[in-house]
Amino acid sequence: MHVLVHESVAPVFDPALLVEFLTSEGVTATTGALDDCDGVVAFDHDEALFDVPWVHAITAGYDDYPVERYREAGVTFTNSTGIHGASVGESVAGHCLTFARRLHRYRDRQHDRVWEHEPYDRAFTLRDERACVVGLGTLGQGVAVRLDALGMDVVGVRRTPALVPGVSEVFTPDALAEAVADARFVVLTVPLTEATTGLVDAAVLDAMREDAYLVNVARGEVVEQDALVAALDEGAIAGAALDALDPEPLPEESPLWGFEEVLVTPHCAALTNDYHEAVGALVATNARRIEQGDAPVNRVV
Ligand code: NDP
Repeated sequence: MHVLVHESVAPVFDPALLVEFLTSEGVTATTGALDDCDGVVAFDHDEALFDVPWVHAITAGYDDYPVERYREAGVTFTNSTGIHGASVGESVAGHCLTFARRLHRYRDRQHDRVWEHEPYDRAFTLRDERACVVGLGTLGQGVAVRLDALGMDVVGVRRTPALVPGVSEVFTPDALAEAVADARFVVLTVPLTEATTGLVDAAVLDAMREDAYLVNVARGEVVEQDALVAALDEGAIAGAALDALDPEPLPEESPLWGFEEVLVTPHCAALTNDYHEAVGALVATNARRIEQGDAPVNRVV
């Protein structure tokens, strides 16, 4: 089994780090040309990947990959769901704490060396506030347990109405407007699918509280961005933390950059200094399983 680490992973980690990790796990791994490899680890699709028997995506989301064409071409395709609960959970907790404790506004003032309190009624605590987490898989559960630990009342939305740790009530997607209505924070952690494209539209934003914040760590297309800008402009919601945008990078002229109560981050909620090890553990497991004729974990097709 020869695994090639594709150059497309470079924006996330140095490909050499994954080669080193896989080698330490006893897997033959290299960077370079795609010739003669049995598997490839990639961040983006590339037409040459159709010639490789197994493609592993270093992301959990695979909306950018031509999954049906992989199926038709007989390519095995696996993803990296399961590794982002702590990183994204902590990023979301950070976003909620930042808005509640007003850290973003103090950092803004620091640029001008201004020592000044926020208005008395602005700061609040997360304790007893409600969060609604839309999508309760790896990301959603990582968010839910952390917000629950901060004393929040966490409810969730998913198609299968099963409870998960940290969540007090689960709504189905048809009750989304009801689920978000009492929440101070609405956190998006769903995959991008036909059903979730434009899920958060003007009606959902309208159903949210005026003092509520939207946190999107899913995909930009899950939110109707024009409706979000309008809701922020009109004060229909209080603000947003946006790690996933449409398009990415967010264009310089986007009005989203300009709101005091909007945090824009460059799709980095999951990034950590050991990301290559988490991906590497999945790749090594699957290299062994495929070699032994077993079904790989996280198989999509
Ligand atoms: P999982 O597959 O573990 O979880 C997905 C969850 O979404 C499940 O709970 C599923 O539950 C629920 N779900 C699916 N469809 C719907 C729907 N129509 N309405 C409501 N809930 C739904 O995926 P991950 O948690 O690993 O990742 C989720 C997404 O987050 C990825 O696809 C990716 O786009 C994004 N992501 C973003 C990152 C970032 O850096 N910002 C990092 C990693 C992932 P059920 O089946 O019961 O509906």
